[in-house]
Amino acid sequence: MIPAAFDYRRPTSLAEAVQLLAVHADEAKILAGGHSLVPMMKLRLAMPALVIDIGRLSELRGIREHNGTLIIGAGTTQHDAEVSPLLQQHCSLLVETAAAVGDVQVRNRGTVGGSIAHADPAADWPAAILAVGARIKLVRAGGERLVDAADFFVDMLTTVMDSQEILTEIHVPVNPPRTGGAYLKVAQPASGFALTGVAAQVTLGADQTVQRVAVGITGVSGKAYRAHVTEQVLQGQAATAETIAQAAEQATAGVEALGDIHASAAYRLHLTRVYTKRALQQALERAQRA
Ligand SMILES: Cc1cc2nc3c(=O)[nH]c(=O)nc-3n(C[C@H](O)[C@H](O)[C@H](O)COP(=O)(O)OP(=O)(O)OC[C@H]3O[C@@H](n4cnc5c(N)ncnc54)[C@H](O)[C@@H]3O)c2cc1C
Repeated sequence: MIPAAFDYRRPTSLAEAVQLLAVHADEAKILAGGHSLVPMMKLRLAMPALVIDIGRLSELRGIREHNGTLIIGAGTTQHDAEVSPLLQQHCSLLVETAAAVGDVQVRNRGTVGGSIAHADPAADWPAAILAVGARIKLVRAGGERLVDAADFFVDMLTTVMDSQEILTEIHVPVNPPRTGGAYLKVAQPASGFALTGVAAQVTLGADQTVQRVAVGITGVSGKAYRAHVTEQVLQGQAATAETIAQAAEQATAGVEALGDIHASAAYRLHLTRVYTKRALQQALERAQRA
């Protein structure tokens, strides 16, 4: 289908972009890589009167480390994240996540910030940023705020961002010693989107008990979520095969799963428990070697 008519602006700075958004907030949409927005416009599920293209703003791209925090520019492509030596060294779970997104064309255009802002319930990044305890920087004309990933996702395609805000950065703590992470997913074969995707991050204490564990899950329900009961079962324990199996069984506690032509709700719930166990095992093995 052909999109509805729209105006197009390409600001040359973030400051100009936020000013444009301040004036046109409710009728405008930000365009980053366009891999989610353009299909929605073609289907007329989105009909913005104005498209503000931030795709060429170099100030939004790149990954750096500052005082123990990795700062990922929202306009960084998924491919740039996939090949980032900084992410590989300090938070390899995010490299694994980036590599799991769609195909090479999607990763070359799609941005990390675009994926998080879009909040597709089957997208990979939301699970990972929940697991690593990221914070999201949102900027508007005259102000900015940092939001915990845990508070960011509200519902399907809905976040706490308001229509005047631009997501500019993702802040991720550098992995402490004895930390390992893993992202595993079962992909819908045609699109690559997750039927279930599990991001697990484990930090062990000197005595090899679990000091911190976080599990982010996508693809199952209306939004990505933290598997808090799973985490509670493991917290402070020796991570034996038995405790991991018990913890993984709780990965869908209280979750209302979605079903569609690709997988029923019951199948998604089953896959999620199985993949939580595998992701935790892999994260733990990596933590033991780190
Ligand atoms: C064939 C195909 C397969 C795919 N497979 C996968 C997959 O396996 N896993 C996966 O996770 N994703 C997948 N995707 C989605 C892909 O990763 C998208 O590129 C990504 O979700 C959106 O990033 P974008 O930069 O293209 O955002 P855009 O499409 O430009 O924008 C998406 C939405 O976010 C908003 N937005 C974008 N950037 C910002 C910002 N900085 N601040 C505020 N709002 C912003 C836009 O206004 C829009 O509403 C697939 C897409 C396609 C087309």
